[in-house]
Amino acid sequence: MLDTPIEYLKGIGPQRAEVLKKELNIFTYYDLLQHYPFRYVDRTKFITIKEVVDDSQLVQIRGVVDRMEVVGLKQAKRLIVFFRDNTGLIELVFFKGYNWMAQKLQVGPEYVVFGKPTFFKGKLSFAHPDIDLINGNFLNQQSAFQAVYNSSEKLKIKGLDSEGIRKTINSLLLNLKTEHIEETLSNDLMTDFKLIDKFSALKQIHVPTNLNELTQAQKRLKFEELFYIQLKLLKLNKVRSVTIKGFVFSKVGQLFNDFFNNYLPFNLTTAQKRVLKEIRLDVGSGKQMNRLVQGDVGSGKTMVALMSMLLAIDNGFQACLMAPTEILAQQHATTFKELLMPLNLEVYALTGSTKTKERKLIHEKLISGEIKILIGTHALIEDVVRFNNLGLVVIDEQHRFGVAQRAKLRSKNKFPPHMLIMTATPIPRTLAMTLYGDLDTSIIDELPPGRKPIRTLHFMENHRLRVYGFMKEQIALGRQIYVVYPLIKESEKMDYQNLQQGFDNVLNEFPPPKYQISIVHGKLTNEQKEVEMKRFVKGETQIMVATTVIEVGVNVPNASVMVIESAERFGLSQLHQLRGRVGRGGDQSYCLLVTGYKIGADSRLRMETMVRSNDGFEISEVDLKLRGPGDIEGTQQSGVMDLKLANLAQDGQLLQLARQAAQNILDEDMNFDLQKNKVYERQLVLKQMNRPNWSKIG
Ligand code: ADP
Ligand code: MG
Repeated sequence: MLDTPIEYLKGIGPQRAEVLKKELNIFTYYDLLQHYPFRYVDRTKFITIKEVVDDSQLVQIRGVVDRMEVVGLKQAKRLIVFFRDNTGLIELVFFKGYNWMAQKLQVGPEYVVFGKPTFFKGKLSFAHPDIDLINGNFLNQQSAFQAVYNSSEKLKIKGLDSEGIRKTINSLLLNLKTEHIEETLSNDLMTDFKLIDKFSALKQIHVPTNLNELTQAQKRLKFEELFYIQLKLLKLNKVRSVTIKGFVFSKVGQLFNDFFNNYLPFNLTTAQKRVLKEIRLDVGSGKQMNRLVQGDVGSGKTMVALMSMLLAIDNGFQACLMAPTEILAQQHATTFKELLMPLNLEVYALTGSTKTKERKLIHEKLISGEIKILIGTHALIEDVVRFNNLGLVVIDEQHRFGVAQRAKLRSKNKFPPHMLIMTATPIPRTLAMTLYGDLDTSIIDELPPGRKPIRTLHFMENHRLRVYGFMKEQIALGRQIYVVYPLIKESEKMDYQNLQQGFDNVLNEFPPPKYQISIVHGKLTNEQKEVEMKRFVKGETQIMVATTVIEVGVNVPNASVMVIESAERFGLSQLHQLRGRVGRGGDQSYCLLVTGYKIGADSRLRMETMVRSNDGFEISEVDLKLRGPGDIEGTQQSGVMDLKLANLAQDGQLLQLARQAAQNILDEDMNFDLQKNKVYERQLVLKQMNRPNWSKIG
């Protein structure tokens, strides 16, 4: 019954069905049932006319009709009902069906009016409110939790406003019997987690009679959503770990030990040691590692990568590291070369700008196995690149790489190499569990010692002179400074002008020869960027004016001030990333956020969060609350977007429970052989089948 096309539902028909499909992706009875209310109103509560003060919400008043008038001509013709209670008078306006309405309403009896006030001709009135006679029946039927549904202009024209949808769903629910609804969770699970059955949940979410019913229904349906995403991810993980054999790095060998004992430039932090240990356990286990290392900017992920790579080489394998940008790949290559020089280990780099001759040579040496360590960009995953025995792949700054590219790297070998994925974008736990739920995770939650927390200040544009003054003081102390401008793709031209303008301003304020300035942006060739970067890295320039190309990973310890222009145009995680470019040396570092004088509430909260906190994980939580998961990179390709009820910013505990439940089931019965688990097998298959995006087909 629930697969029946929506046009067959009483009161819908082909025309309304068409709009439901287009506007809300509702194709079947079941789709309609899954169009959950987005909130509830209390229809047992009344306010007085005097209390109708704004148009922010649905309200209910009771009173009598004072008089009625039809006014206006032709299109503007309308019925005005003057409606009154003890406290005042308000107009109800009907543009359509007013003859019928004028006949129906009488002066005398008491009515109830329900609707959202609107501003009409400068004062508050109700346009097309619900209006009903008050009698015992009416009052008894009204619920404190009446569902309100999302609708659209096109649906409203067809009579399917929230109220129309509510009535349609209610009539469908009246004909719904238990056997129509397929239960999607096992009895055991429902008992264990105190969840109500699906049939009751669906009824109660649309027509709850009290708060408890509503809460139970929401819990059950949210749990189901989260549970199936987790079941799928954890199953993937389980299948991989059972079926795919991994190379065994059985020993900690000479290179690793030599480096660790003699050439490590600092003591590892406890967090670095812990993560390295987790990696060693993985690669020694005989399973293929798929591990995500999350660590805030500056937490020292590079060293973890380097030492893991030594482990691979010690065990006779090749290792490569892939970075998202040319600059970053070059910087890693330089760092690696310096650190590994005493070990006589040659480091090769392969990027888009590697010359053809050199490139050919590298390709050959990779196949022969002569190259042990390769660092590069996307050039690493080109088809022509073949390895002799690639044992470990490290991907730095994961968020720039898609799942497909990860898969391609994995397939570079006959057997998949171990994968270490490092991300400097801390993401909330709930999101990590969903986006990377198939990976094992490690967290570097500690910065190297001696770092002074970066001080962050917020300036309005009109205080720019103070910003410049501060910059001069810092330069006089021998420090270097970044000045960053936003570059948002859609308006690249305008942004570029902003950058030029900003550069001119900085140049005016900091004239040569006393001051030297580098400028780096996306329109420069790689060579030009390289030259400018190098001048800054060597300390030949004091100021680096740049767009966000410097966002990822660049390391200049002497740079201690980050000025972010038009900071209100950056997202929180981007701001935090940018700030992480400073604070890498021993000096007190600063981040100055410069915004317009008037900024919105969201922007203000972003600035306040930055000023208050240096903790990437805390910042990412705020980011999730502000933006929702949809805007956070990578979520589109995950199951996150299929969530109808569950909210990753709020339902962390439930997610944890759902994940645990899924894990328990897989630990006991990963192939769903037990009778009680058959339901999961079937649902996973069904969900796979339902994958096509109907909106594109319609
Ligand atoms: P990220 O995690 O952002 O990639 P990096 O690996 O670039 O951070 O490290 C940032 C800086 O901290 C580098 O200059 C690095 O040499 C230094 N560093 C890393 N680990 C330690 C440590 N344990 N003690 C002191 N300095 C460290
Ligand atoms: Mg890094």
